[in-house]
Amino acid sequence: MPLIAFNLTLTLTFDDEKNVKRSDDKSKRTVTTSPKICIVGAGLSGLFSALLLKEAGIKDVTILESSDRVGGRVYTKYFTADANDDKRLYAELGSNRFPIVEGHPELSQHQLVYDTIAHLNDYNKVNNPDSVMTLTPFSTFDKNALYYFNGKKDANGSIITKGIAFGGAKPTALGFPDSVPDNFLDMWDDALAPFFDLLDKNFTNGIETLKLYDQFSAYDYLKDIYFPRKLPQSMAPYEEVMKAIEMNVLGTGIFSSYGFVDLALNEYAFGSPNLNISWKVIVTAPLGNVYHWEIPQAFTYYKKRAIRELTCMNAARVFLQFKSRFWEESPLVTGAPNTSTNLGITGGASSTDLPIRFVVYPSQYKGLPTNSSAILLASYVWDSSATKFSPYTDDEYFEAVLKNLVTLHGDIAKTEWVSGSENNIAFNWAQYKHSIGGAFALFSAGQIDDLLGAIMRPEISVHFAGEHTDIQTGWMVGALNSGVRVVKEILLANGMDSQWATLKNSTLLKYWNGQLDFKGYF
Ligand SMILES: Cc1cc2nc3c(=O)[nH]c(=O)nc-3n(C[C@H](O)[C@H](O)[C@H](O)COP(=O)(O)OP(=O)(O)OC[C@H]3O[C@@H](n4cnc5c(N)ncnc54)[C@H](O)[C@@H]3O)c2cc1C
Repeated sequence: MPLIAFNLTLTLTFDDEKNVKRSDDKSKRTVTTSPKICIVGAGLSGLFSALLLKEAGIKDVTILESSDRVGGRVYTKYFTADANDDKRLYAELGSNRFPIVEGHPELSQHQLVYDTIAHLNDYNKVNNPDSVMTLTPFSTFDKNALYYFNGKKDANGSIITKGIAFGGAKPTALGFPDSVPDNFLDMWDDALAPFFDLLDKNFTNGIETLKLYDQFSAYDYLKDIYFPRKLPQSMAPYEEVMKAIEMNVLGTGIFSSYGFVDLALNEYAFGSPNLNISWKVIVTAPLGNVYHWEIPQAFTYYKKRAIRELTCMNAARVFLQFKSRFWEESPLVTGAPNTSTNLGITGGASSTDLPIRFVVYPSQYKGLPTNSSAILLASYVWDSSATKFSPYTDDEYFEAVLKNLVTLHGDIAKTEWVSGSENNIAFNWAQYKHSIGGAFALFSAGQIDDLLGAIMRPEISVHFAGEHTDIQTGWMVGALNSGVRVVKEILLANGMDSQWATLKNSTLLKYWNGQLDFKGYF
């Protein structure tokens, strides 16, 4: 679809930045009970905003989408065309898992995702039973997954498994210099723990405390605040410790490139809390895309600067197809290099400093014979590690990934591989023109304080949603939260307070965390 509607809509009103008022400024309210809405982008935030507007009784909603499909960064690639085959092979190129707090929906950061699925299924059961969504438990840790850094193996020459590495192995046994302290694998969690406690107790207060460190990159925070409290001064400047931790938790360069606060919030959203306790436009397109549009002069300086400056993190995924799930078998059976436990891997991820960085084992084949075809997320890399694959053709990409996989799993990876670009996929998000800039927004040091307010604020009759406009960037729930916020903005700006009250009290928004309706924008 051509991108014309945006400019037609936006060049209407003000011509002078000084005259711009927030559209929810009470003195300027135009009360219309049935506004016409145009939503730019049919990703999660756009689709969810449309759903909420429908629930609020607004019928005149148009969605414009630049690609030939809906879903945006929720992007499933199927390897066979038969939509009725529920066993067909697929790869999730974008979002694929939502953490859950079992039995405590009120504590879950992601509950809105689950409630949205339940809500849609209520429709589907009646209108479209074949489309009822089911959820597959996703395993994030398997003690038999591999830990392969610095080419280091155990005393028997076997590849070290996660259970051993995280079970108190000495850093030198894992190939790190002896200047790295014994507990280095726990230090990132330890650095974040006090903030998580505060967020668990009261999210808003927790954010306020975190924001005191908004000017810090993760590197600055660890080096200037955390390490001096935890490690002897003689170990300063702590560079080796820093690099060893960074390599294990995220990836090369990420600690220095991104803000401590956003990395902490991302991690918080992944974990579980402590269980002790008129025409309106909604723009949801990523800011990297908006950057290329003709931005109305009437937009404030702050909005234009935010559009230019917001940083994005890239990610790349390579899915390879295999004739069997050989990784679930013992290396003794498959002829793979021995591992510390010599047991198979079901779910979880192997970590390595090889270019593939993380191998994520599928959770969805449980109960199927191991000799049936399967898709493996053979490489999941972020940021500069993804950039280093950018120039590769698909075939070069597959070959490079397979080579690393052979190091971890032996020649069986080669013999079981099903070659051909129709059977495998390499996807580098920085090259996807509908999500320019990379995979998801990740604020660099200082940007939450500096830019988030400007990113969220409405301009003239234009509202801004999308994961990048929420404190929970990089998650589906951030996209959904932003949908709630813009629908609230529009309903209240149009005198539809009672519709908002009804929506807010609906089962769908029961666990919507109003505190995420960031108060700080101006
Ligand atoms: C690799 C990866 C892994 C992820 N993993 C997870 C995960 O495990 N769990 C989780 O919860 N979240 C995960 N996420 C994040 C989640 O997918 C996103 O936060 C969410 O889908 C973003 O939704 P959105 O509506 O904000 O943006 P998008 O989905 O990007 O939607 C924006 C839409 O705008 C369209 N568009 C762009 N330009 C224009 C234009 N000019 N005109 C019209 N339309 C336009 C795009 O085509 C797109 O459809 C992951 C994302 C990626 C990329």
